[in-house]
Amino acid sequence: LSDRLNAAFKRFKGHGRLDAKNIKDGLREVRLALLEADVHFSVVKDFIERIKDRAQGQEVLESLTPGQQVVKIVHEEMIELLGGTTSGLDLGTKPPLVIMMAGLQGSGKTTTSAKLALYLRRQKRKPFLVPADVYRPAAIDQLHKLANELGVPAFASTADMNPVDICSQAIEEAKKQACDVVLLDTAGRLHIDELLMQELQAIKETCKPQEILFVADSMTGQDAVNVAARFNELLDVTGVVLTKMEGDARGGAALSIKSVTGKPIKFVGMGEKLSDLEVFHPDRVASRILGMGDVLTLIEKAQEAIDAKEAAELEKKFKRSEFNLEDFRSQMKKIRKLGSLEGIMKMIPGMGQMRKQLQNVKMPEKELTRIDAIISSMTLAEREDHKLITLSRKKRIAAGSGTSVADVTALLKNFEQMQKMMKKMMGKQKQGKAIPGMP
Ligand code: GDP
Ligand code: MG
Repeated sequence: LSDRLNAAFKRFKGHGRLDAKNIKDGLREVRLALLEADVHFSVVKDFIERIKDRAQGQEVLESLTPGQQVVKIVHEEMIELLGGTTSGLDLGTKPPLVIMMAGLQGSGKTTTSAKLALYLRRQKRKPFLVPADVYRPAAIDQLHKLANELGVPAFASTADMNPVDICSQAIEEAKKQACDVVLLDTAGRLHIDELLMQELQAIKETCKPQEILFVADSMTGQDAVNVAARFNELLDVTGVVLTKMEGDARGGAALSIKSVTGKPIKFVGMGEKLSDLEVFHPDRVASRILGMGDVLTLIEKAQEAIDAKEAAELEKKFKRSEFNLEDFRSQMKKIRKLGSLEGIMKMIPGMGQMRKQLQNVKMPEKELTRIDAIISSMTLAEREDHKLITLSRKKRIAAGSGTSVADVTALLKNFEQMQKMMKKMMGKQKQGKAIPGMP
């Protein structure tokens, strides 16, 4: 997903000015990326609408760097999509805090109960584990083993007991042992069924858990989201735990679940080990998905269009003052790919200062086409030495490129200016004076 989104952002970055059309094109890429990541289509639709509205607003169009503005908006909206703020457990309630786990079989309830026990103990809490799955053979054993491993007390449930009784008796037992958090590990089914739901509702009625965490296997993508919606309808859960996130590169469930259920993701399971549980931070996850630990890496990625070897060649030419119109043109073509001169300057050591000057010089597409046409109409000799170009030659070149003499003159002037600047920079460099902004 990150790669796809980055490709989409390149579109925004490439444009000096954003208009309805290039916003639309860029957002189409974002949309496809999200759908491919298995994000629910209605979630994607709303998401894109919101970004479109904001991206077309004044804040973006009048900004110096509209592309970055759009990326910023996508980032902010994605944080919202993931739930906005971090919502952990409310540990401030009157003890014992009762947490009920719910979810399909194999989603990770038992494992997550143990993981939470470890997490809570690290928070200086005293957790109590309650195996309440009396149907699956060895389910009780499984939690007892994990409790042993952690050295956390667990209720001595047996398979012949009623799950509702187990839970209510366990809460009393926890109080006696002065435990302040009770974790109810309930049974699951392969599919949602009436009987299971009745049992879970009965446990809820009796035990009045402050937290009901729906546990979902993130690898199941949209299925997880649909099941979450159903569990939420029947149990009014307080939050979601997404397990096996370390294996889900796409992130579709994570991105859809809050919008679809209205309930926040509170934790994510990142592996089979008991320490592999993380509090879910929407902002961090959004940054990770967008691959923008810092926004600059996005821009840097775009610059990979010029390879390092080429940059070194170019630098040599600058140094020998051999930079000619042909080089100029080939660089223009690169600029076209990158959207700004800055991209090229960045590749050349010692160009820091100039980069700043050129930061906001953006070449419109039409201008680049014209430059290309003009240089194409020159002879090879003219390209290598622009001083050969007299007025009569200018006329010929203008006619050949479908431009005017003024256009040709303007181009040559630009080129000369660039050449001069380069020389000045290189001269300074040779004299060993520091150039501000030089790495
Ligand atoms: P339950 O039926 O809902 O109680 O599910 P379990 O807790 O028994 O977990 C089912 C399987 O998923 C077990 O093999 C766990 O080790 C595994 N599992 C649970 N959480 C994670 C996780 O975050 N990552 C990985 N890789 N495996 C997990
Ligand atoms: Mg289980």
